[in-house]
Amino acid sequence: MDIYGIIGNPVEHSLSPPMHEAAYDETGYDARYCKFPVEDGDVETAVKGAEALGIKGLNVTIPHKQAVAELDAVENDPTAEKMAAVNTLDLEEMKGYNTDGVGAIRALEHHGVEVDGAEVVVVGAGGAARAVCFALSERDTRIRIANRTPEKARDLADELGGSAEGYSLDALKDTVSDADILINATSVGMEEDDTPVPAEYLDSDLVVFDVVYSPLETRLLRDAKEVGAKTVDGAWMLVFQGVEAFEIWTGKKPPVDVMNTAVRRRLKDD
Ligand code: NAP
Repeated sequence: MDIYGIIGNPVEHSLSPPMHEAAYDETGYDARYCKFPVEDGDVETAVKGAEALGIKGLNVTIPHKQAVAELDAVENDPTAEKMAAVNTLDLEEMKGYNTDGVGAIRALEHHGVEVDGAEVVVVGAGGAARAVCFALSERDTRIRIANRTPEKARDLADELGGSAEGYSLDALKDTVSDADILINATSVGMEEDDTPVPAEYLDSDLVVFDVVYSPLETRLLRDAKEVGAKTVDGAWMLVFQGVEAFEIWTGKKPPVDVMNTAVRRRLKDD
């Protein structure tokens, strides 16, 4: 039996175990996926120990993505290296990847959204925004980032280079009206029924994607549906980052529908 897992702190609410184990069951792969809480300062020991134990692969979640990207023993793929954050480790090859951003892009494309050539407004400049923006920057997109702390938006835009620009949230009024895709990459909407983008800025030509997955239908997505915009929820990003990891680890075709169902069933139970 092959073993996979997730390291982070906390990890108890991770949706990755049911998602990956559903994929193992569906594909007849004799494997298990475990949760490993790891304290700050123990990351290198945990990764080397996992390698020594023959664990095949690890996902990495908050707060260890940067620490894993800095490990000398791990060779990062170019995207993970640029982002300085690893969320997927292939322990057989000791290679680090970041599948969060590409998961977001695949979530959009799965819904028939044309990413190349799109003008994209990303709200937020934290970890999720970083992942989404780096993946978008590898495509033919114009990226505008709006954040509560505008300096962070500008710093991220500078890191991305190209035509990326950073703003305060005040810029949303004008930037959203020109955009093809609006992405909420803040945590607004998770704790309370709140939205980072006033409903009156939305229109039916927009694609609205929210990285928040709990609740599945945030106020932003509700507002977007009301004006007739196309919407994509955050569970799809979670699913496709897992789909990418499954591909990296097994080389097999991932059962996307089964993984999606497993995630949604667990989110509805919570
Ligand atoms: P983070 O690094 O802490 O960043 C949080 C972002 O939200 C920052 O841009 C912050 O702005 C902004 N923010 C927080 N409270 C705000 C408020 N009241 N008004 C306006 N902006 C506010 O967090 P993260 O890791 O990026 O996670 C953000 C969300 O993405 C979480 O809900 C997380 O669950 C979700 N997520 C989803 C996936 C997925 O697969 N779907 C993956 C990763 C994360 P400041 O810079 O001004 O503080």
